[in-house]
Amino acid sequence: MDTIQPEIITNPSVLKKRIDTFRAENKSIGLVPTMGALHYGHLSLVLASKGDNDVTVVSIFVNPTQFAPGEDYEKYPRTLPDDIEKLAEVGGADIVFAPSPEAMYPKGFDANVHVGGVTAVLEGKFRPTHFDGVATVVLKLFNLTRADRAYFGQKDFQQIAVVKKMVADLNVPIEIVSCPIIREPDGIAMSSRNRYLSEKERQDALVLSRSLMEAEKQIAEGVRDTAVICADIRQKIEQIEGASVDYVVVADPDTLAEMERVAGNVVILLAARIGSTRLIDNRVITPKR
Ligand code: AMP
Repeated sequence: MDTIQPEIITNPSVLKKRIDTFRAENKSIGLVPTMGALHYGHLSLVLASKGDNDVTVVSIFVNPTQFAPGEDYEKYPRTLPDDIEKLAEVGGADIVFAPSPEAMYPKGFDANVHVGGVTAVLEGKFRPTHFDGVATVVLKLFNLTRADRAYFGQKDFQQIAVVKKMVADLNVPIEIVSCPIIREPDGIAMSSRNRYLSEKERQDALVLSRSLMEAEKQIAEGVRDTAVICADIRQKIEQIEGASVDYVVVADPDTLAEMERVAGNVVILLAARIGSTRLIDNRVITPKR
């Protein structure tokens, strides 16, 4: 496989000009928005974009506005040289856009994109300012890159719903491509935050993916009462010393509305703390019959 050495751009105006040249050549553009500390979950999105588009732009930006005070903005891993090496494992990307916070939010910046409805539940309840930060930065990235398609992972299931709603409501001319969760061989969902876990916590964190798998089995065996399913998952997580649950919910995968009974496709979404690290996971389940 030929490896493209990405052009690293930090200045939004330079990116815009570079995009003009691709547009003039009629090239299709795929965008993969990330916060860096790349792992195979991110790389799977890059691969999908490379398959669909002439040009792939990977943005690497730890977006301050999607973190609340007291969250992990300062300690979030910033590993740009490693990230560029990682990209080479999938043949590279055409552009890595890695702006500074000041370049994205210059003095006087005063806009905010708020999507209602789907942001009111789950992550939105526990992180009330999070999705405004996400929607605002994502719209900026869409406008800067004028991408034909943008790639998001189902690891952040609610984020995809928020971005899709923003795109639909604001007529943003872009296709949102939703990609499956990539897991480690033992089942844990890959996440940049996994590196915060001690060895013991890393083992403890397996409870998240395992309890979701067990819930799928329960559903296959005929359990339909979501209160039972959620209580089981919650209990498995809370059995672990130092672990606590923010939420466990069975929801409609399209609307994210909570369901009392499993009927048709469902998604089980959860957020929990293992020690001081907050992790999320989810599983889409299609009951037989
Ligand atoms: P982040 O860098 O955590 O903001 O993630 C950037 C993008 O990568 C988001 O669309 C995430 O949903 C996606 N992503 C993160 N982890 C995974 C994973 N394990 N599998 C698939 N996509 C992922």
